[in-house]
Amino acid sequence: MRLVLLGAPGSGKGTQAGSLKTALGIPHVSTGDLLRGAVKAGTPLGLKAKAVMEAGQLVSDDIVLGMLEERLAEADAKAGFILDGYPRNVAQCAALEALLARIGQPIDVAVKLDVPNELIVERIAGRAAAEGRKDDTPETVRERLRVYAEQTEPVADYFARKGKLVVVDGVGTLDEVLARINAALPAR
Ligand code: AMP
Repeated sequence: MRLVLLGAPGSGKGTQAGSLKTALGIPHVSTGDLLRGAVKAGTPLGLKAKAVMEAGQLVSDDIVLGMLEERLAEADAKAGFILDGYPRNVAQCAALEALLARIGQPIDVAVKLDVPNELIVERIAGRAAAEGRKDDTPETVRERLRVYAEQTEPVADYFARKGKLVVVDGVGTLDEVLARINAALPAR
């Protein structure tokens, strides 16, 4: 199964991907995690990405695509993967499609977690307290939501046009939302 998880920052994508990974036995590939790893390791790429991430903006398409390509080349991704945080804009949709065509692993389904804005802001505030992510400050969160609305919302339309989008209600307990996602996945 090759799955893309879509949804605003704080929609619960990362948490759900963690549960799905266990249930489906495929890796959770988060471009945000890959980038945070590079920042932490102090790689040249991480140094480039750091300020952009802390401003709540998108890291350059080339950098993220390169990291993703390397990650998908690892052995565990041959059985499938859960993509979280990518594609983030329309250019990345085309880049992903080309990359996956090249490796013969097209996306099966894109699941969008639908969560109202008020709840998003509340959830991110909770996460900021729990995890201390540098990009969870109020100003950065506002910028990330603006970037999401402007650049990432159209990604759902892209998958809808391909007949691959399912929208799942993301309000509820983790288990309730997980059950809805499972019910929305293609038969396997
Ligand atoms: P996330 O953990 O998905 O919320 O990502 C955290 C930050 O990493 C984002 O605000 C961006 O700065 C950067 N990032 C993650 N994925 C991408 C992507 N596909 N394209 C560009 N920047 C990204």
